[in-house]
Amino acid sequence: MKKWMVALGLALMVFGAWSPVFAFVHTGQHWADSRISYECDMQGDYTVQCENAVREWNNLSEADFYDGGANAEITTTVANYGNVDWSGYCDWYFDRADNITTSSNIRINTHFTAGYDSNTIKGVIVHEFGHALGLAHEDSLGRGGAVMYSNDERTVYTPTQDDINGVNALY
Ligand SMILES: [Zn+2]
Repeated sequence: MKKWMVALGLALMVFGAWSPVFAFVHTGQHWADSRISYECDMQGDYTVQCENAVREWNNLSEADFYDGGANAEITTTVANYGNVDWSGYCDWYFDRADNITTSSNIRINTHFTAGYDSNTIKGVIVHEFGHALGLAHEDSLGRGGAVMYSNDERTVYTPTQDDINGVNALY
């Protein structure tokens, strides 16, 4: 009986190593470690959804965001940036010697998002924090496969297993 248990364990380990389909794409940069400060300096429901987005990354992945106040490494802004080609935008700064991210700014554009429901707004913010963590766009899994789907037609608003795998591969 004990031999069988060991054999089963090995079989599961082998299966486990082969079964995940990794589709996530990395940006090429990531933070030095998983403990990263942020601030949700938005307004109204945007602040609520920003905090929800951060909490989801913290609960589901190895990311360990903490509130850094005014000196946070990741800052967030919500404003009307007009009819540009983005509803959310993330830029990040990194050391070119080792591709370690040192700061990031997330912008949410009310021109588009003002008409979104809370869940869709949260999805945009989860997506932008995904960029900050080091995830690039992932469209091969379709609208419901990754929160890193490149546009707001996504049907998931929470990190999926693929998004989580992508972050956990970095931290
Ligand atoms: Zn994006």
